[in-house]
Amino acid sequence: MIPYIDYSLCTGCGACAELFPLFFEMRDDRPWFINYEKFVVEEHREVMFSCPFRAISIG
Ligand code: SF4
Repeated sequence: MIPYIDYSLCTGCGACAELFPLFFEMRDDRPWFINYEKFVVEEHREVMFSCPFRAISIG
């Protein structure tokens, strides 16, 4: 399971990349999920809550 970004909800605010730079990187005002080999859903579930627009889900 890894984070999924719904770009139809994402405003490009950058909050996810500020809070979790290990997992999100802004490229041209869009967040990209990076380092997915380090993502452990039991430990990093809170990345979902970094997005004020609920654009991040885990699936
Ligand atoms: S916090 Fe949410 S709205 Fe902001 S850049 Fe990340 S995914 Fe997009």
